[in-house]
Amino acid sequence: MLRTTQSRISLSSLHFRHSTPRAHCYRRAYATSYTSLSSRYETYYGGSIKTFYNSTLTGLSPAENEFREAVWEFSARVVKPKSEVIEREGGDSETHEYKTLIEVHKEMAEMGLHGVTVPTEDLTSSLGLGLSYTHHLLGMEAISYSSASLALSYGAHSNLCVNQLSRWGSDDQRAQWIPGLLDGTYIGALAMSETGAGSDVLGSMMTVAKKVDDGYVLNGNKFWITNGPKADVFVVYARDVVEPGAKQTYTTFLVPRTTPGFSTGKPLDKFGMRGSPTCELIFEDVFLPSTSVLGDPASLQGKGAKILMSGLDLERLVLSGGPLGIMQAAYDTAVDYVHQREQFGVRVGTIGSMQAKLAEMYTKVNTARTFVYAVARAVDYHNAEAQKQGLGPKDKGYTYPPFQRRDCAAAIMYATDKAIEVAMECMQCLGGNGYINDYPAARYLADARLYAVGAGTQEVRRWLIGREVNSDFE
Ligand SMILES: Cc1cc2nc3c(=O)[nH]c(=O)nc-3n(C[C@H](O)[C@H](O)[C@H](O)COP(=O)(O)OP(=O)(O)OC[C@H]3O[C@@H](n4cnc5c(N)ncnc54)[C@H](O)[C@@H]3O)c2cc1C
Repeated sequence: MLRTTQSRISLSSLHFRHSTPRAHCYRRAYATSYTSLSSRYETYYGGSIKTFYNSTLTGLSPAENEFREAVWEFSARVVKPKSEVIEREGGDSETHEYKTLIEVHKEMAEMGLHGVTVPTEDLTSSLGLGLSYTHHLLGMEAISYSSASLALSYGAHSNLCVNQLSRWGSDDQRAQWIPGLLDGTYIGALAMSETGAGSDVLGSMMTVAKKVDDGYVLNGNKFWITNGPKADVFVVYARDVVEPGAKQTYTTFLVPRTTPGFSTGKPLDKFGMRGSPTCELIFEDVFLPSTSVLGDPASLQGKGAKILMSGLDLERLVLSGGPLGIMQAAYDTAVDYVHQREQFGVRVGTIGSMQAKLAEMYTKVNTARTFVYAVARAVDYHNAEAQKQGLGPKDKGYTYPPFQRRDCAAAIMYATDKAIEVAMECMQCLGGNGYINDYPAARYLADARLYAVGAGTQEVRRWLIGREVNSDFE
């Protein structure tokens, strides 16, 4: 156990911006962590979170474990106590205030969590942590454990928007937006889906960008956009107007909320993830100067499909932390309950068929986690190799990890299937209480279900993985 009541640590010591020089401070803490494993669980912030997380299986490095334990501490201390109010405020159809969600976003910013993958050496993004996708995934998992809604909003901000901007944006765009997105001044979002363009997002896209003098005019709608009601800036994909018979191209734009002609619809009332803000975006003759094209307009105008697809791979990887965190919470809730609840004079967890459920859940949580972490590690390794050669995604000669597309899709597909199964079993373990909203089991299921459609559906992921496997035989 690393973070007990006795070892509460201050917010300032949770900052990662200078984590490397301070790494030695945590060594003694690791020793404590490993020797206490006989207790089989980790306790954060005096028991706000007590989790049966099996850290012996994950293969994380000491630095990754340091980060993991600090984000779990943050999750226990800051997020968990506010998770109910985040749900309530988001689900309130009268106000849809999201006040607490925005406050916690700012606390995450203070900790540096919005720029986990933003390079530190980049003069336009000095608030970045310059860490890996594994770290980002660990952050997503820890926040999802306490509030899946907040984590979804966090993922849309820090990965879908910030990471795309950091990877593809021009120097000026990064200088303009990244500091505010990292320090909590701005919230970001990404818009690809439309009412008529979901799985076939490019082929059916109807939001059009028409080239005019000095810029573009955007018309169309985007739907189901996470953070839409609150975001200050949007990464938006649009279909280019091309000559008849010419190849269809797409361009990515940065659209500030204040742009004339841009508006948002009413927040959508959702089955789960009720604390996370979602809405429609409306573009009516929105004029955007050429400098709004994400990246250098000379080279990235018309390259929206490539930007979208490479971003989607990393989105699937980082968002896999969502189902991992939810299923860990469901597992912990179930195990705790069946060892308190007694029927027939015994704890129900010791009854054979219930014990088998625990075995299934335990195995699902740990197989999903170890696979997702392995994919993250492979992507990080490849990125680090590219960096050594001075190559980024915009450079000629940059290649993607060989199995990135299929593995990122498989990571979120598998984690989502297992999270839904574990959430269902958690409900069952709680008997009647599993069905009562005073207990969290039903919410785990509703929240986990989002990951069966968000970032591409389970069917599309299976289709994509199968197509890639078959392509090996062409
Ligand atoms: C809460 C929430 C938040 C979201 N946030 C964002 C966001 O921030 N930004 C954003 O751009 N989008 C966002 N989305 C949209 C999400 O990405 C889409 O809903 C998703 O891609 C599916 O598209 P669709 O809903 O149009 O389903 P459809 O494409 O209409 O699919 C309907 C059904 O048909 C199946 N299907 C379709 N095509 C195939 C195929 N080729 N093979 C097999 N089955 C197929 C699907 O799997 C599904 O079961 C969000 C959605 C939700 C619910």
